[in-house]
Amino acid sequence: MPVKMVRNLKSGPTVWSSLEKRRSLEWQGAGDPSGLDIQPVDEEILAEPSFQQALRKKIFEIVDDETGAAALDAQSQAREAAQQNIASSIASTIDRSQEESFVVAKCQGPATRGTGECGEDVTRKATEIDDAPLLCPAHANLAHLFMEEETGEMVERDGKLVSRKAWRRTSVGAA
Ligand SMILES: [Zn+2]
Repeated sequence: MPVKMVRNLKSGPTVWSSLEKRRSLEWQGAGDPSGLDIQPVDEEILAEPSFQQALRKKIFEIVDDETGAAALDAQSQAREAAQQNIASSIASTIDRSQEESFVVAKCQGPATRGTGECGEDVTRKATEIDDAPLLCPAHANLAHLFMEEETGEMVERDGKLVSRKAWRRTSVGAA
């Protein structure tokens, strides 16, 4: 007797075990979307009197080749989908690490010579770009001269839409 495809007719998961042969097979409940309600059964198990009894009691039934092949298809599709889920969770981990990226902005402190702004590079975490005035080390002591302002621009931070803030130098402390 060759391998047959056998369907579990019970609504819940069903295990068939042979203590004597130290083997066990497991099926998911009838109609399992991943096709795991149908499993291949080899002739050694098919020949077991207790398995023959389970077939007679309509716990299991042998299905035709077409049904068996469809179940194997569903099983491999379910495995692929599970692997894609793993792949997409890796992708979202990568996305989270990209939020840790740094941006280079220009110092808002006063220009060393003439008018305008200092313009020194200020490196900051992208997610913290608006947290404080952009100041180079030479101008870090001027932070108290800046006031936070709403820009009205909405940006996404950590999956939430927040209003972007900007820092404006007050005239009081203008150099
Ligand atoms: Zn500066």
